[in-house]
Amino acid sequence: MNKGVTPLLKDLLLNGSVLLAFLFVGNWLMTLPRLAALYRPRPRLTPLLVGLLGGALGMLLMSVTIHLPPNVLIDLRNLGVVLAALYGGLPASVLAASLIGATRVLLVGEWNGATAAALSSLLATAAGCGLLVRLPGWLLLRWTLLTGWSLAVSSTFLTYLLYGGPYLGSVLVSYTIVFTVISYLAFQCLEYMKRSHLLFERYKAEAGTDFLTGLANVRRFDALVPELLAASRLHGEPLSLIAVDIDHFKRVNDTYGHPAGDQILQILAGLLKNASRSYDIVTRNGGEEFSLLLPDCQQDKAGEIADRLRQTVERHAFRLADGQMLHITVSLGIASDDGLANAAELVRRADDALYEAKKTGRNRACQHNANTLSLSK
Ligand code: GH3
Ligand code: MG
Ligand code: MG
Repeated sequence: MNKGVTPLLKDLLLNGSVLLAFLFVGNWLMTLPRLAALYRPRPRLTPLLVGLLGGALGMLLMSVTIHLPPNVLIDLRNLGVVLAALYGGLPASVLAASLIGATRVLLVGEWNGATAAALSSLLATAAGCGLLVRLPGWLLLRWTLLTGWSLAVSSTFLTYLLYGGPYLGSVLVSYTIVFTVISYLAFQCLEYMKRSHLLFERYKAEAGTDFLTGLANVRRFDALVPELLAASRLHGEPLSLIAVDIDHFKRVNDTYGHPAGDQILQILAGLLKNASRSYDIVTRNGGEEFSLLLPDCQQDKAGEIADRLRQTVERHAFRLADGQMLHITVSLGIASDDGLANAAELVRRADDALYEAKKTGRNRACQHNANTLSLSK
């Protein structure tokens, strides 16, 4: 192989590896639940983080120079600025460029024409990319514009440095090809990781959501009860649980059909949600069974809420899609944490109370007490 090409390939391989490793670690950092919880609710922090990461990437890329034959050194530091602009806008690109520029000045240790030109090139890339990214359109189009702008600025910088030399033309062509290919690789890699993460988040959310009603499902319920129980004990606030079951729902299905039954389930889910406090959690535990988890709620209060729910459902006219109206009733079982053994025991007690409500005539709320079960209707 040509002696001049082998080091070039090695350099490209090194740049590609550094870039991919950095993007992977950067993406991992940005999606760490603790860090995400810190910056996602504060959108102003995102450009700061993206700018820091873009700056760090530019510094790394500046340290792995590429030897263009016969004897010219280039690097891809501007890629840190382009990516910062693409994902964090103007503040991120300016921050990234400032970090890379400051590192360049510290590394060289002296101020001369080349330093000034390098800084100007970085800042011009940052400003242009940060403004161009505001244009509407596909992300791919914006990536093309940003990469094009960065190449235009870098080409001007290289022309200034190599003006009059024999290699200017070949350096410009090589730099353009290398920068475009590596920038495209970075863009596709980031987009792939972004899509994968979004899909992962969606599947995670769907795994805990009931498809028919949009409420949390039994899988989420099973995970939530011990969590809420531990939290309620920590804060000394009692957790109550109301188990809800539609009375004679099989008859509704038999009389009006399964799709009508589905509509009833959806309407009831809305009623339960509306009737509960914003921090209560309503779940569909399967079939025609629902639950309400009530943090910071004494059992007596939960009993009142349950009876109010019972009356709301009893009075509500459920309107089906074909205009038919029908009425249903529910039975409810209430239990609270009074130092019981564990989460399973709380669920068992609410189920016992619900069973008691069914046994004693339905359309009633029944509280579990240590030795007796009290009814309300
Ligand atoms: P009870 O008062 O004792 O609770 O009587 P029930 O008829 O409500 O209870 P049962 O357990 O005998 O029947 C529950 C019915 O719920 C049977 C099933 O057809 C219906 N069901 C369960 N899941 C769904 C669903 O997703 N959609 C519809 N439409 N019906 C469902
Ligand atoms: Mg039922
Ligand atoms: Mg049932």
